[in-house]
Amino acid sequence: MPTALRVREVGPRDGLQPEAPLGVRERLDLIRALAGAGLHDIEAVAFVSPRAVPAMADAAEVVAGLPGGGVTWWALVPNVKGAALAAAAGIDHLTVTVSVSETYSMRNVGMTTAESMEAALTIAAAAPTVDVVLSCAFGSPYEGEIAPHAVARLAERCREAGASVTLADTTGVATPRRISDVLDLVGEQVGLHLHDTRGTALVNAYAAMERGVSRFDTAVGGLGGSPFAAGAGGNLATEDLVHLCDDLGVTTGVDLDALLDASALVARLVGRAVPSRVAAAGPRSRLAGSDG
Ligand code: ZN
Repeated sequence: MPTALRVREVGPRDGLQPEAPLGVRERLDLIRALAGAGLHDIEAVAFVSPRAVPAMADAAEVVAGLPGGGVTWWALVPNVKGAALAAAAGIDHLTVTVSVSETYSMRNVGMTTAESMEAALTIAAAAPTVDVVLSCAFGSPYEGEIAPHAVARLAERCREAGASVTLADTTGVATPRRISDVLDLVGEQVGLHLHDTRGTALVNAYAAMERGVSRFDTAVGGLGGSPFAAGAGGNLATEDLVHLCDDLGVTTGVDLDALLDASALVARLVGRAVPSRVAAAGPRSRLAGSDG
């Protein structure tokens, strides 16, 4: 079990991306609340076509309004053009998605996995920091199980190019067994980006932590999911992971009460209750001495 986690908050990007578009001011209110709760890595925007993903429009305006104070700001970019826009806006930590699933890749970005990897490596060669997010790393809605050695091969190419690697369970098909099979070949020096489609996100995170994985993507409230992946389901909720880590004595740097305030804010902004269990029930630290 690691003593500390590096939690990258993806709520302002992955969480809001399938939602009705919010204004720049509301997105910045959420980002400030998350930074104030102690999240030091935040994926704030995506430099994508506003026609394809209306909720991610006006990325440069959001970046211009980001608060100071020791946060590493990340932007998702789909291609070299997006990387150039991010650089122009002053963002130098980029996430680039490459799908391990050929069919998902063709449907999502119109490129084969190999073509998509070439594009990611081109970006990695030019940008200061690139994290390649390998989507469908634990299975695909189209091809079913994905061979762990295929994931390992792609991860190796990213590392050779100087990029870090995050394994994404885009459609929530991972289980602790699948996590273990993939980590056996890819190693523990990865981030995990888990979705809770089938209720396994937190147990998958725990299984990975037991193996020493210390980097996780989470979204406040458990919002999110690809607008292009049918039934993608929300991300692992930041408050659910932080709540577990607080009990385990694993440091996240996040203040759970302040995070729950940010979660209440995002619920107001999207106009409904969020999927997070801890947001719904309250943390166990608030129990009044009950032993039942
Ligand atoms: Zn996600």
